[in-house]
Parts: sequence; C-alpha cells; structure tokens
Amino acid sequence: MVQDPLSTDKKQTNRNRIYQLVYQEGTVSKPEIASRLGISLPTAIMNVKNLQDEGFLKEGEVTDASAGRKAGRKAVSILYEKNARFAIGTDITRSHVSVVLINLAAEIIEGARVEMPFENSQYYYQEVVDIIRRLVKVAGVDPGIILGAGFSVPGVLSRDGQMIIYSHVLQVSGLLCSAFSRGLGYPAVLCNDANAAGFAELWKHKYRTDAVYLSLSDSVGGAILLNNDLYLGENQRAGEFGHMTLIRDGLPCYCGRNGCMDSYCSAQVLSRHTGGSLELFFRKLKDGDKDITVVWGQYLSYLAMALNNLLVSFDCTLILGGFLGEYLEPYIKDIQDSVSKLTTFSGIEDYITACSYKKEAAAVGVALLYVRPFIRQI
Ligand SMILES: [Zn+2]
Repeated sequence: MVQDPLSTDKKQTNRNRIYQLVYQEGTVSKPEIASRLGISLPTAIMNVKNLQDEGFLKEGEVTDASAGRKAGRKAVSILYEKNARFAIGTDITRSHVSVVLINLAAEIIEGARVEMPFENSQYYYQEVVDIIRRLVKVAGVDPGIILGAGFSVPGVLSRDGQMIIYSHVLQVSGLLCSAFSRGLGYPAVLCNDANAAGFAELWKHKYRTDAVYLSLSDSVGGAILLNNDLYLGENQRAGEFGHMTLIRDGLPCYCGRNGCMDSYCSAQVLSRHTGGSLELFFRKLKDGDKDITVVWGQYLSYLAMALNNLLVSFDCTLILGGFLGEYLEPYIKDIQDSVSKLTTFSGIEDYITACSYKKEAAAVGVALLYVRPFIRQI
C-alpha cells in the first residue's frame, strides 16, 4: 500500500512535537501532551509508545493529573531518556585541549583536560583523537550512539564548519576539520569557540531565545544568538566584538589597528598584573589590594563602555563569559552600576549577567551542535 506522504508527515510532526515538548518540560503526562499540542489522547499515547519502544522516552512517577481532570485521577509522567544518545565536544586552545562527552540533557558524562600546546602536526592531531577515544572508552558508552564530534577553535571558519579560514591564536589558515577528526569515525564539525560557548549558555536558558555572549579570554570574542540560533554574519565574523573601536588612536591591537576593545578588555589586561594568573588577580581584588583595585577600576570603565555599546545595539540579555566568566559573579552589580552611568536607556544594565558554565562552555556548546538536530529530527 502506498502511504499518503502527507499523513506520514503528520505522524512525524506529532512525534517530533511530542518529543520536543517532553524535552523542553522535562516531565509531562500523556493527557497534558494531548492538550498542550492539540492532538487526540490516542494519538499522544500511540506516539509516546513508539518513542518508548525505541528507547527515547520512558515512564516516570505517577503524578496528580492536570487541572480539569476528575479528582483523584492519576497520570503517569513521561520523561525523555537522557542517555539515549551522546555527543563529543573538543575545545582546541593555544595551550590545552578539553574534551567532554555529553548526553542529550547536556550533562557532562566524562571530561578530560590535557595541557598540550597546539601544533599543526600529525602527532598533535593523533593525540587529540587518542584523548577522545580514551574518554569514550572510560565512559563505557557504545560508540554507535554517539551523534558526532564537534571541535571548537579560536578563529574564522568556513560556513559549513569544515575549515578554519584563519586563526590568529593557532597561527593557521586553511586548516580542514578532517585534520582533527581523521580516524575518529564520527561525523565532525568545527565551530568558533565564542559561538560554541554562547550556544551552550543559551541552551541552559530554555525559555530565552535571544542573547549576546561576550567572551573575555586572552582575546575578546563573542556570539550573537537570535531565535535560538547563532547569527554568523555574511562572512562568519559576526560577534567579533574585540575589534570594535573603543578608543580613537588608542592602544595597538594584535589585528594591526589601534583602540580595539581587545586591547582594553581582554583577560590579559588583568592577568598581566599577577604573573598571568587570573585567579590570583581576583583573589587580590577580593583582599582589597590597592594596585589591583585601581587596575580593576580602569578595566571596568572600558568594559562598561563596550557593554553599553552592545546593549544599545542588541537590547537583549548580555552574558559575560570566557576566562573571566568564572570570576565575575560577585562583580556583576559593580559592572551593572558602571554601565548605568553611561547608558541612555534606564534599566538596560539589568540585562547583564555572568555565564552559567564556569568551565568547558565551548566544548559543551560544540557538542550540542549534534544534539540539536537530533532533537529536531527525531
Ligand atoms: Zn583589533
């Protein structure tokens, strides 16, 4: 019998919608699924059963039925199976490699961080592949249910995520994704590190669809997230906030120009006062060290300028991350106050927040690039 393609589509759509609803809510009863999606209860039951049989959904506890149903009626909660699939994320930096194995809930099942300076050599790439393989083995996960392996890198990439067009940090150009993934046996893709970290941050906030992520690491980068997606720009260079001009004819930037935000707001601007250690910088700041407090005050004045520019441009949540991200929580109020002194629009500073992932945001984010299509297409 030839199936009506439209009815097949409809089945697929209901299946998708049900899975996505359960994923979004964490736990939902079958009657709730039917009412929330406007489908019949038998349709909800049939689709849930199919997804259960395939190992993607499971039954949880018996809960009170949703409002409007007969008193005393109980309903079984439906949950998604977090460990039905996994994805690998690898963050390639100048000094180290971080690998995470995440499940569908974006939980890190296994992680490894290896101090290993980047080098464009066969030896280096083989080491990266070996680290990933060891991690999968330690986790005891069937490689057959790993969706893919993403690599986050500092640099400008091709639109298809298969080539690093140029990376100042890694000092490479025209480097293919296959260099990292050769012999690994999973689909692989590259993503700019700040974009990957921004994507992970947005994922954490399920009900937020737009945000700007500012990565304050040894260089300054960022990501623009619109409608739950990365806005990459025509040339994959959107969000390169580090090269906004902050001061006319100001300090030289590594890009060859002067006065870029990077020269005033990178993590190095702080860590160079404490022998390269950000941790020491913030410990001294907390202890009230006089010189460090002055440095921080100056830094804050430039950062506030940049943040104000971003907020008047984007009018949405502004997430501060990168190396600095894990230290900023206690200073968010100070940062907001500094911005409020500059801004045209009152209340704009309330949109500034510290990142949720204190570490490994980029690795998680690039792994999520494989989780997202799985959830959408299941
Ligand atoms: Zn620059």
